[in-house]
Amino acid sequence: MTEVADQFTEERSGEATRISHWIDGKRVEGTSGRSGPVYNPALGVQSGEVDFASVEEVDAAAQAAKRAFESWRSLSLSRRTELFFRIRELVHDHSEDIARLLTLEHGKVLSDAKGEVARGLEVIEFCCGIPELLKGGYSEQASTGIDVYSIRQPLGVVAGITPFNFPAMVPMWMWAPAIACGNAFVLKPSEKDPSASVYTAELLKEAGLPDGVFNVVHGDKVAVDAILEHPEIAAVSFVGSTPIARYVYETGTAHGKRVQALGGAKNHMIVLPDADIDMAADAAVSAGYGSAGERCMAVSMLVAVGHAADDLVSAIQERLPKVVVGDGMNPDSEMGPLVTREHRDKVASYIEKGAAEGAKVVTDGRESAPDNGGFFLGVTLLDEVTPEMEVYKDEIFGPVLGITRVDTYEEAVRLVNENPYGNGVALFTRDGGVARQFQFDVKAGMVGVNVPIPVPVAYYSFGGWKSSLFGDLHIYGPEGIQFYTRGKVVTSRWPDPATSKVDLGFPQTR
Ligand code: NAD
Repeated sequence: MTEVADQFTEERSGEATRISHWIDGKRVEGTSGRSGPVYNPALGVQSGEVDFASVEEVDAAAQAAKRAFESWRSLSLSRRTELFFRIRELVHDHSEDIARLLTLEHGKVLSDAKGEVARGLEVIEFCCGIPELLKGGYSEQASTGIDVYSIRQPLGVVAGITPFNFPAMVPMWMWAPAIACGNAFVLKPSEKDPSASVYTAELLKEAGLPDGVFNVVHGDKVAVDAILEHPEIAAVSFVGSTPIARYVYETGTAHGKRVQALGGAKNHMIVLPDADIDMAADAAVSAGYGSAGERCMAVSMLVAVGHAADDLVSAIQERLPKVVVGDGMNPDSEMGPLVTREHRDKVASYIEKGAAEGAKVVTDGRESAPDNGGFFLGVTLLDEVTPEMEVYKDEIFGPVLGITRVDTYEEAVRLVNENPYGNGVALFTRDGGVARQFQFDVKAGMVGVNVPIPVPVAYYSFGGWKSSLFGDLHIYGPEGIQFYTRGKVVTSRWPDPATSKVDLGFPQTR
């Protein structure tokens, strides 16, 4: 382990660690007088206290980024690539430490946390190919003696605002392409699990990233608003819930910024009567309850078509008692706690609500939650859920899986297409023709065919439709590179001075 990482993990073993900002290559203690608690959700105890930034502190981060930008964008692509390979190695070597931080503050089980880091690392690896990604076009002799070429240049200072549920991976979706493209970055991570961001900052410094290119400011709405209104910040990437995504998009664009704001989800998994029911049940349990349902790509509604329903419900019901719920640091645990007590209680209230609305509570997670003071809730299965129920309409974001029963494929697709969200969707079938029709018909950004969580690989881009995304460009992959750069087209000639003459006509191609 490196010296920097050593220091960090030692500090983490103490009581209620203070978690500070990272500005201009160093930790900066907050002076706003405002802060928030960070919990170990598996124990239900406070483990940290995170500083909340003032408008001035956000400005200090933006100014540091501005100072760093010009020399960073001037660094050659080969040097930038070399640095990205070092970043890749350091993040890879410290994956386990990062994963531990995630488990300690978010609650997800360690194996899942490692998976999160691995998927983020893939985005960093994609960014190691930045010279190829920034290549422009060239047209020789576009007109006689004239060549035309396109280049892509960084925007300047850009910012990322991230949710609690992927405290390492979602920031990597943003900072890696942003920095690789030559921008300087200000990150405002979730105040619920902020440590992974500061840890990342230390690794980036150790890799040799110049001070000021990557900054972290913690906080709440004050910090977010300061970012959205800051005149030096050219673009904002946001991932979080739909109401805040809409707010960030509207406020950021009103201040002249480029914004991509990814929102919430209500992901459906349709199971057709010809599907392999055991495979569908395994997928539903994995995708519904993995990370305690706190994934924007979690399956939250199963749509069982025709006679698939009864078999599917019993196959899932059979699997649920075997799901091991417990402290994420325990290697036997398959599902950890929820992130906070408030969130756990809110999710639990949907079980009550579902029952009152007429859903059938097949398995009640309140009865199987470990009782050690941690923010645990067991797995819940609700059958006979209908689209007008709150448990259908709301993004519950917890280990509550609903089943709705329909007669036909057409009804199932209509449910998905009429839903206000359009993040992920999956179809389970053995019929290739229907699957092909489904990808044509369905209104969602990420489609799985017999794949329950279709998160695109790093060389495609991630993003939903409808209320799951505000803005034009999806995140990471080729669209991420486009988001963090703007195009310039150069028209150039190197004429023989002997042929030069005055010509007041509009330039025409010859
Ligand atoms: P959230 O919207 O509460 O918070 C996201 C960020 O916004 C945080 O940094 C938070 O500090 C900030 N924020 C919160 N309230 C704010 C306010 N009033 N004004 C300004 N900023 C505010 O989301 P969360 O609870 O941290 O994360 C869970 C949500 O994120 C779920 O809805 C989930 O679907 C969504 N999510 C979406 C994707 C995606 O790719 N579409 C990925 C992960 C999570």
